[in-house]
Amino acid sequence: MRYVSTRGGMQPQEFADILLEGLAPDGGLAIPEHYPQIDSTTLESWRKLEYHELALEILSIFVTDIPRADLAKLTAAAYNPALYDGGVMVPLKPLKGQISLVGLSQGPTLAFKDMAMQFLGQVFEYVLTQRGTTINILGATSGDTGSAAEYALKGKKGVNVFMLSPFGRMSEFQRAQMYSLQDANIHNLSVKGVFDDCQDIVKALAGDLDFKSRWHLGAVNSINWARIAAQVVYYFWAWLRATEKPGQQVSFAVPSGNFGNILAGHIARQMGLPVRKLVLATNENNVLEEFFRTGVYKPRSSENTYATSSPSMDISKASNFERFVFDLVGRDPKALAALWAQLGTQGYFDLSDKKAEFENTYGFVAGTSSHADRLETIRSVHQETGVLIDPHTADGVKVAAQFVEEGIPMLVLETALPAKFSETIEEAIGQPAPVPAHLQHLASLPQKVEVLDADVEQIRRYVETHAAI
Ligand SMILES: *Cc1c(COP(=O)(O)O)cnc(C)c1O
Repeated sequence: MRYVSTRGGMQPQEFADILLEGLAPDGGLAIPEHYPQIDSTTLESWRKLEYHELALEILSIFVTDIPRADLAKLTAAAYNPALYDGGVMVPLKPLKGQISLVGLSQGPTLAFKDMAMQFLGQVFEYVLTQRGTTINILGATSGDTGSAAEYALKGKKGVNVFMLSPFGRMSEFQRAQMYSLQDANIHNLSVKGVFDDCQDIVKALAGDLDFKSRWHLGAVNSINWARIAAQVVYYFWAWLRATEKPGQQVSFAVPSGNFGNILAGHIARQMGLPVRKLVLATNENNVLEEFFRTGVYKPRSSENTYATSSPSMDISKASNFERFVFDLVGRDPKALAALWAQLGTQGYFDLSDKKAEFENTYGFVAGTSSHADRLETIRSVHQETGVLIDPHTADGVKVAAQFVEEGIPMLVLETALPAKFSETIEEAIGQPAPVPAHLQHLASLPQKVEVLDADVEQIRRYVETHAAI
């Protein structure tokens, strides 16, 4: 399997080569030359596999430059049930009617990002060891991504993590989760500013090409192809759990921000998985919902991005969307590059002439939720079923309900557990979310964090004195 850039300016490369890079050299994103096809006989033969075995089958199609026996070790380590609360991998949890949750948030940081990050941590260490090199991951987080990355990379050989987070802007649970890590290769930098300041500092340092190459800077952000590939696995897994016979269709509903999670669903569908609808759910930051409704994609500035009760979806420029649009324009890199050039000059592009294809060809439909909708959904699901869902998952459940069809299971991806967002849970049902037993001591653990000014030079000096090369 080889990878090309959505904008056409990259020689085809293998998985390990694109793993450690961010954007392709032409500013595009790496994408498989062709989507592999899984026929129904193969699909049926996967019904009895454990999660890590299914991950091996699917990832070995995308990763052809790592020997299968080695890849088997990496998937077994990443998807060891002991790392996942309850010890059951990705359970399907029936909610009501045809709606079930896909339990993706049992991992170490209680959000679906663990599913991909745990594999990324394994494969990073493997490739870096093979190549005898090191990497210094520099990132900014407002919550879920940073903690999932730290838990996946802690103690890994050849990797150092410098994670910037906004001082005083994270929930107590999120702080305790990240800052209690004592591993020598994890550096929590609490920056006196907001998330955008953190992001700007990362961009400034990663954009300083001398600094970047001298200190082997890398990233684990949501455009990383290994993360997308690892996410494809659970769409297959959920389909195998929800169906009994070949060709049976299911729909998926996905609370979306950067379009990474639902992109993996799109790829699974392109590979032949019988998916009827891909229901894209947004919060008040509805740039993507607007696109699927109107055909016009118009990202917004950070000043025009609301802070909502589903903060991990407060995104108005979806970094993975380019990979879907690549397919939409018939995988024509020139057409794709022209659209992104237009985004740069006029701030939007208009694909309303392709609107019929969104649903007919690709199965995409979309909806949005408000804060009041999410509170009401959390409350009613809790009352009717006893199940407590987090505000992101509530967004998915609310929008999914609009698209349920007779006889078609509707699988809502559970993107976080409620304990992570207890304030909103308390607002919805008048009591906080229970904290899983193994995390109850978290708040009392000592924390390791450096508080620094929102100043590029301070962060630069910190990296220089703590990085490994
Ligand atoms: C990251 C995240 C999302 C959004 O996922 P994308 O891949 O960015 O679309 C939704 N919910 C939670 C809890 C998340 O952490």
